[in-house]
Amino acid sequence: MGDATTKTRRARLCIIGSGPAAHTAAIYAARAELKPILFEGWMANDIAAGGQLTTTTDVENFPGFPQGVMGYELMDRCREQSVRFGTEILSETVTSVDFSVRPFLVLSSSTAVEADAVVVATGAVARRLHFLGSEEYWNRGISACAVCDGAAPIFRNRPIAVIGGGDSAMEEANFLTKYGSKVYIIHRRDSFRASKIMQARALGNPKIEVVWNSEVVEAYGEAQGSLAGVKVKNVVTGQVSDLNVSGLFFAIGHEPATKFLSGQLELDSDGYVATKPGTTLTSVKGVFAAGDVQDKKYRQAITAAGSGCMAALDAEHYLQEIGAQEGKTD
Ligand code: FAD
Ligand code: NDP
Repeated sequence: MGDATTKTRRARLCIIGSGPAAHTAAIYAARAELKPILFEGWMANDIAAGGQLTTTTDVENFPGFPQGVMGYELMDRCREQSVRFGTEILSETVTSVDFSVRPFLVLSSSTAVEADAVVVATGAVARRLHFLGSEEYWNRGISACAVCDGAAPIFRNRPIAVIGGGDSAMEEANFLTKYGSKVYIIHRRDSFRASKIMQARALGNPKIEVVWNSEVVEAYGEAQGSLAGVKVKNVVTGQVSDLNVSGLFFAIGHEPATKFLSGQLELDSDGYVATKPGTTLTSVKGVFAAGDVQDKKYRQAITAAGSGCMAALDAEHYLQEIGAQEGKTD
């Protein structure tokens, strides 16, 4: 099972991940005295422990923070709450799992955890584009989440652009028309892959204009200020033109963090962990999934937290069941 440097630990529940889903699962499981071990990762997928919210500034839509809260601060508080109730946190990235054995095996480069139940809450990574100015204006006009950032004052009654041609781009463009004076959808081809109904909604919205066959090649604005416009290249003619926008939203898909599972859980066609609708149950009994790793629709901190709670309750129920079979009580 590993070399001499690998420590083996035994747990009733092992949680993999460190975003709102993982910590909510940990808080519930720890309060249920399951003494969970949680792998928070060490720059897993190039994101600090704490997950996607550590890559943003103000979070204004998480209940309980009427003045908003910084993403990293919210996650520090979640971590503190997990620890307070007895969660043991390992700052290590899970590299592989074995769900064919009982207890399940969860492995990092230095620890092997044997667990009766596992919650997978490793999240997802929003894909980003890289071009001149894309890093400079990140969080200063450029974002990968319209629902999270769209209501910010810098976008009010100003033109905004969305890049992408899938359902997310259609949904985000429609959503942004509530705030912007006009919304451009910049797409690299001459047709959308989005579902017909979502396309119709976007194309029928008078505030939306599509910029077909185009890619953004540069973002610019005032030095140390916010975004003022982008240079857009028509990929058919090669012509470059200016688009004055105060906001630019990437809606080019997400990568769910599932590689370490090596096919041991059933995934859907987009690579998300498949769960039984209305539950966090996966294709392996005793393994549960919560948060963005199994959600390609809502992708919000509060929905991730909600499903983390569900995963802990589902796991607790499962452990009671197998405990009863083994003559144990929880
Ligand atoms: P994530 O937050 O994705 O965290 C999972 C984490 O687990 C990973 O980041 C990593 O640290 C760890 N991990 C991954 N793989 C492993 C592994 N193999 N081993 C150990 N650890 C691992 N939502 C809102 O509600 N409001 C907002 O204002 C908001 N703003 C956002 C701004 C940005 C820029 C982005 C990208 C997202 C924003 N979101 C916002 C969305 C929100 O961040 C996500 O929906 C939420 O964080 C998902 O939580 P999660 O628990 O599923 O996992
Ligand atoms: P998709 O993968 O469906 O679409 C991504 C879009 O981004 C594509 O149009 C793609 O272009 C474009 N793109 C990808 N890479 C680049 C790049 N490097 N440069 C420029 N453009 C790029 O992702 P979505 O997030 O839209 O959707 C993911 C899944 O979630 C889908 O199954 C979708 O149906 C579902 N979903 C459903 C919703 C709903 O029903 N309300 C809402 C949101 C998502 P191209 O087409 O040329 O490949």
